[in-house]
Amino acid sequence: MHKIFHFASPRERYKCDAAVVWCYDHRFELALRKLMKRIGIVRSDPIRIAGGAKSLAAPDKESDRQFVLEQLRWSMQLHGTDTVILMLHSDCGAYGGLAAFGNDTEKEIKNHQAHLQCAAAFLKAAIPELTVKTFYVDFEGVWELGEHDGLPGHEGLATRTMMPSTK
Ligand SMILES: [Zn+2]
Repeated sequence: MHKIFHFASPRERYKCDAAVVWCYDHRFELALRKLMKRIGIVRSDPIRIAGGAKSLAAPDKESDRQFVLEQLRWSMQLHGTDTVILMLHSDCGAYGGLAAFGNDTEKEIKNHQAHLQCAAAFLKAAIPELTVKTFYVDFEGVWELGEHDGLPGHEGLATRTMMPSTK
């Protein structure tokens, strides 16, 4: 090995504000950064995998789910993580993109909302001590799902809380 450059990284252990289960689609990178800033997440443990929270809601194989749980447990153990942010985004390749929903964004939102609910329920059952927050990112902004979104009698679109990603 040879040194490329010198840089002093902090040696101190840190308390993680939130672990973030999120896709690596770079189109939403800036939206993610703005969201983190908006909700006050400074030190995050990013768990970046294709599809993000899909791995908990609708994993291709059960071991994907277990892998994410294991990563979250490591984050809790190493960095005292007590909050997890679950995220999905529009036109995600892991779902077959928007095309998989017939290019119907409302259909896609309904599916992703249900998946975020499902992922959160699974995670809370698996690791009850965690606080779980769920967000959806599309090409127009970032949306937080309320507690009752997606449940019968609560039409998701009406109760979504918009977090405009301005500034
Ligand atoms: Zn994606």
